[in-house]
Amino acid sequence: MAYQKSKFALTMPETDQVLHTLQSLGITKKEDQPKSNFPKYMENNKKMMRFWYKRYKLFSRFDQGIKLDAESWYSVTPEGVAEEIAQRLACDIVVDAFCGCGGNAIQFAKTCRRVIAIDIDANKLAMAKHNATIYGVADKIEFIYADFLHFASSTRLRADAVFLSPPWGGTNYSREEFDIEKYLLPVGATKMMQYARRISENVGIYLPRSSNIKQVVALAKEKQHREVDMNFLGSSWVAITAYFWDFKF
Ligand code: SAH
Repeated sequence: MAYQKSKFALTMPETDQVLHTLQSLGITKKEDQPKSNFPKYMENNKKMMRFWYKRYKLFSRFDQGIKLDAESWYSVTPEGVAEEIAQRLACDIVVDAFCGCGGNAIQFAKTCRRVIAIDIDANKLAMAKHNATIYGVADKIEFIYADFLHFASSTRLRADAVFLSPPWGGTNYSREEFDIEKYLLPVGATKMMQYARRISENVGIYLPRSSNIKQVVALAKEKQHREVDMNFLGSSWVAITAYFWDFKF
């Protein structure tokens, strides 16, 4: 697995972030009016329209028929960021524990030999498969309909890396400082890392940029390497990804 050096020094996050943030990813173009593939539930919903205007930042192949449910519009990892994460976690077998509609899984399929993509929501998983087909990588991804915590407790699978992009807690989202032990779903970060480490000691976790950095750094086991990347989309800081991996790896 090729882990590269951080491009950015770690600094304390500022305020102002949304759930799997997409808030400031793009520029709304006046001429960019709804076209085909426009979801009905966005009509007359200004908040949701923001995401529509950013659709090509989420998926550059959006117009080829990408499918997203309402929740996924604001929880998908934007393509550029997912690409960067996939470069960092390039390996043989990667587990994408919270696959959603496939933003990360699709990019992992380009840098890893095999992707095990898990989600607790069957509809999202079906959309992920559909979206992966659009990117021509569906055959490299195994889609598993499961609760990741149950999966990790019962599987004998050993992977080279596990990627965690858990829900950031919806309305509990804290703009000031995000407590990763309190607000992440379905369990706090320390517990989630324990589940992930049943499958691999090499773990990446995608978090709000306002995450409590002391808590993030404390997720490393003794003598483990750790790095925290700031994820940018253009000039917008959208999230952080923390990586933890074995000394020997
Ligand atoms: N990285 C994804 C988005 C993940 S959003 C992308 O880029 O598309 C978080 C996802 O976690 C949601 O799809 C939700 O259905 C899923 N999820 C929530 N609890 C889960 C659990 N216990 N096990 C597996 N998936 C879960």
